[in-house]
This record gives sequence, C-alpha cells and structure tokens, in this order.
Amino acid sequence: MSAALRVEVINTGTELLFGSVLNTHISYFGQKLFSLGLRIQRQVTVPDGDAIREAILEAASRSDIILITGGLGPTTDDITREIVAALTGRPLEYDQSIFTEIQKRFAKRGAIPTSRVSRQAYVPEGATVLQNDFGTAPGLYLPARNEIPHLFLLPGPPRELRPMFEQHALPILARFAGNHELTARVFRTAGIGESAIEDQIGEQLLAIHGLELGYCARMGEVDIRVIGPASVVEQASEIIQKALGPQLVATDEIELEQVVVQQLTDQRKTVAVAESCTGGLLANRITDVPGSSKVFLEGNVTYSNEAKIRTLGVPSDLLDTYGAVSEPVARAMAEGSLRRTGATYAISTTGIAGPDGGTPDKPVGTVFVALAEKGRDTHAEKLLFPLDRLSFKQIVTQHALDLLRRRSLHETEGSE
Ligand code: ATP
Ligand code: MG
Repeated sequence: MSAALRVEVINTGTELLFGSVLNTHISYFGQKLFSLGLRIQRQVTVPDGDAIREAILEAASRSDIILITGGLGPTTDDITREIVAALTGRPLEYDQSIFTEIQKRFAKRGAIPTSRVSRQAYVPEGATVLQNDFGTAPGLYLPARNEIPHLFLLPGPPRELRPMFEQHALPILARFAGNHELTARVFRTAGIGESAIEDQIGEQLLAIHGLELGYCARMGEVDIRVIGPASVVEQASEIIQKALGPQLVATDEIELEQVVVQQLTDQRKTVAVAESCTGGLLANRITDVPGSSKVFLEGNVTYSNEAKIRTLGVPSDLLDTYGAVSEPVARAMAEGSLRRTGATYAISTTGIAGPDGGTPDKPVGTVFVALAEKGRDTHAEKLLFPLDRLSFKQIVTQHALDLLRRRSLHETEGSE
C-alpha cells in the first residue's frame, strides 16, 4: 500500500543553512510526489560534509525511500556519493560512458574537464544512473540494501534536479507507489482576491464529501487546489469552471504569460509593450515564454518624458497638462506603440512605484494601464497598488497581462 510508504528528504548544503539559498526542492518534491500518492513524512537540511552520513542513518531507521539532494559536484565539499557508497557497502566503480558525456558537455563550451570532474563518473556498484541533461553530475538510484532503504541521490541546482527527477526518478518512484486513490488539481485565477473566490465557490465545494480544498494567494493571482478521489475532483472542477468563467486563467499551474502567449499564438495576433513604471518587466515576462517571438514584436522602456515623446510620439502638451502618470499619457503611449510596431495589441504602463514622488492627487502606487488595439477604442484603467517597488512591478505586469488575456479571450469567444 502506497499510503504506508515513508518518504523522507535530506537536503544537503551549507548555503541552505546560511540562508543564502532558499530550499526550493522540498516544495517541488512535495508536489511531484503527491501526484503519485506519496507524501513526505519528514525533511531535514544538513551542512555539506559528514553530517550527511548521520542524517541518512537516522532516516534509514524509519523510512522506505530517502531523497537526498546536493553534494554530487566535483569539489571536495561534495561527498554524498562517497558516503552512500560506504554506507551501503557498494564500492565505487568508474563508468567511462559518464565521463564521455561529461567531456562532450565541456567540449560544447570549448573546455576540457579537470581531473576533479572525473569523480562524477564513479558509480556505487548496482546503482542506476539518472541522466543529467543540464549539468555534469548524474543522479543515482540505489535499491534498498542491508539496513538502508531506497536512496535517490540528486543534484543541488534546481535546473538540473527538476528535469532529472521528472524524467528519471519519478518513473522509478511510480513503481513503488502503485495505484493511488487521490488526485490533485490546481486552478489558477487572476484579477480576483481569495475571499471573493471563496464567496463564489466555497459553499458549493465544501458541500462535496471527501474533498480537500485549499487556496494559495500570490501577487495578483490565486490558486485553488482541490484534492480527493478522481470523481470528487471532477465534480469540484465543474463547479469551479462554471462559477469562475473568464477569471480562470488555467486549469493547471501554468504562468499567466504562458497562457497569453499561447492564446495570441493560436489567434495569430501580436503584441507590443510601452513601459514606464514596470521598467521592462512586462516584456521580460512575455519573452520568458518559449515561442514568444511569434507574438511579441517590441518593447520600449520609456522612463523619461523625452523618451515617451521621442519613441512613442506622446504629445508634449499631454505630459505638461496631465503629467506622465495620467490616463491620457497611458493611452498615448499604447497608441504610439501600436503605430510604431503595427502589432494587434499594445499595452502601456505608467505609474508611481515610490517610495517617493506621491502627491495627494496621485499617491504612491497609482498606476495607469492602457490597452490599444487596431480599429478599437483604447481602453485605460487607473489602479492603486501601494506596495514595495518589486511587488508593485509584479502586480502591475500581472494586471496588464490579464487585461490582454481577457481581451483576446473575448475575441476567441466572439469568433466562435
Ligand atoms: P554542483 O556540481 O553545482 O556543486 P551539487 O550536486 O554538488 O552540484 P550543491 O553543491 O549541493 O550541488 O548545490 C549547488 C547549488 O545548487 C547551490 O549553490 C544552490 O544554489 C543550489 N541548491 C542546492 N540545494 C538547493 C535546494 N535545496 N534548493 C534550492 N537550490 C539549491
Ligand atoms: Mg556542489
């Protein structure tokens, strides 16, 4: 029975305990394991070095599976592989094919591996190598032996660990997990607060027997998480989709910008952005999405008045009369961007991020976002987000992206 399987996690790394690196593996594992019906029972973080041995021995006495992260690198503080080999009585064997892969990876960058790197080509006898597509250190799976349960050794860097875990460790773990009875689903919303969401769906969902319900709010978005037997989750999913309609961004944990880029790609539409207070973050978020070159034409960060005039053709008398943070200027920025790029849509942002520069009329956090579209009146909104600068930028871009998502969503619905 999978429910009875005990999974523990050991994160290694002195930097995690210094507080210089945030331990993101634990939340990642928690989510991925849950999808197999496995839950983490306990997690511990230990510094690099010998503490790993103690942690493994301690966890071994009460668990069936231990996931260990970090310490597979080439440097002398990376000794997880050696410790595990000794503990399990599996001598380290040199694997030429691993070293060849490492050499290839170095060669791509025009480099030659040092002798230290060859440590990573040693594999404890009987271990399964988990290929690393994004770094040199392979991961390892060691089947339970002696007093030591199943061990998974995984690299520290998240960009190496995640694809490896997904492609190579999860399939092995799935064999242990067997049939699991619980399903989890996440619904992502934007432009609506968590209490408003609960108002709309809470009562109906809580009436479903056997459903575990949770909300997770972040800057400008809220996730609704439902857990339960498949039929129950299905029932919840229908209620959520019906009640939230266009407020629902995705029926999965995908980013708003991904949804927007996908939507625009499907519709063969394009977008340009004219940013002031968001300083390029809007363009950055859009271009974080693979394939965004099909839809994203241009971004201008026009921070000064001169730049707004020169680049976007904002009339200087608008700036003089209303100020840079104003609805007429937001409109003129978006329209200027549309003119210069020929995009289907152009979005602008102009606001007061603070901490200084607020007035009674326009306090810190005031922002105007405008959306211009060929052949339609420009839409503009005034919003107030009195937050620190980074949060302000994040939530303004969130709002702008959601504006675009809803506009192009209506187009789809209209054309159907
Ligand atoms: P490397 O070859 O890079 O040394 P490694 O497998 O030895 O890989 P570590 O040295 O433990 O891994 O960690 C490398 C880096 O990975 C750390 O500096 C840190 O930035 C990141 N990292 C390690 N553990 C975690 C974690 N639990 N959560 C987030 N990031 C982590
Ligand atoms: Mg290391």
